Amino acid sequence: MTDPQITENFTVTMEKFLALACTRLPDDVYAKLKELRESEDSGIQKVLYDAYFENLQQALELGRPCCQDTGLPHFYIKAGASFPWLDMVGPALEEAVRRATGSVPLRQNAVNYFEERNTGDNTGERIPWINWDIVPGGEDLEIITYFAGGGCCLPGRSRAFKPSDGYAAIVQSVFDTVADLGVNACPPLVVGVGLGHNIENAAMLSKKAYLRPLGTCHPHPRGAELERQLAAGLNKLGIGAQGMRGNSVVMGVHIESSARHTATFAVAVNTACYAHRRGLIKFKKDMSWELTGYRGAVL
Ligand code: SF4
Repeated sequence: MTDPQITENFTVTMEKFLALACTRLPDDVYAKLKELRESEDSGIQKVLYDAYFENLQQALELGRPCCQDTGLPHFYIKAGASFPWLDMVGPALEEAVRRATGSVPLRQNAVNYFEERNTGDNTGERIPWINWDIVPGGEDLEIITYFAGGGCCLPGRSRAFKPSDGYAAIVQSVFDTVADLGVNACPPLVVGVGLGHNIENAAMLSKKAYLRPLGTCHPHPRGAELERQLAAGLNKLGIGAQGMRGNSVVMGVHIESSARHTATFAVAVNTACYAHRRGLIKFKKDMSWELTGYRGAVL
């Protein structure tokens, strides 16, 4: 079902939502950064966190992105199978990205692979990246938007292992990723770990993992315990914000998992930076909407 007025209203709302989500960090991320600032005892770390907060405040006051790299736009959608306006969602999101590139503005980051040409409006082949999950019996539309910056994408990796490699392969994958290239991602990081049966499902799970709200944990007690131990261990590396030596290199480690094959398993590690621009908006079937995670925000 399509309706030009509903499509236009949705596009305008999403353009404004993109502006909010790249300007203001969600409340849970902001609170975590505050907490980490208090837990640091070195002067340079406090200066760095204060610079982060000054930057975030200026972004709010000026209505400008909180990082110059506004990344490539990603959308993770949970769509109720009975949501009546599904047909327009993909094209409207693309148009919202196009408009937001000019109005926010967003940095023009989309480059065509084989022509090495910047498309100029942050759209292109399969970009914006849209991941769909259909919710049987549902009537609503839930959209997580995420700005995937270059530096925070750089450390990501995915690899398959033999079962005999054991849990040590998970731990080594996480530590190697953060220790090798984590500083490129502007720590403190949210580390997403995907545990699957091959590299592509592990990679997708690692992304969904870091999109989870901070403070949530894996549903299995052993998964939750591994998250806690990995976060504690990574923070003992002494890397700190921006790699300038401190008590915390991560805001959290989140694991998402699927069943694995008897003969193989896969681990993917994905990092999100301190400017963790993950926004959530929910639409009802009458197209009324609500923001989650931005107290007091208006579009
Ligand atoms: S890693 Fe994040 S904060 Fe650092 S430059 Fe990239 S997008 Fe910005």
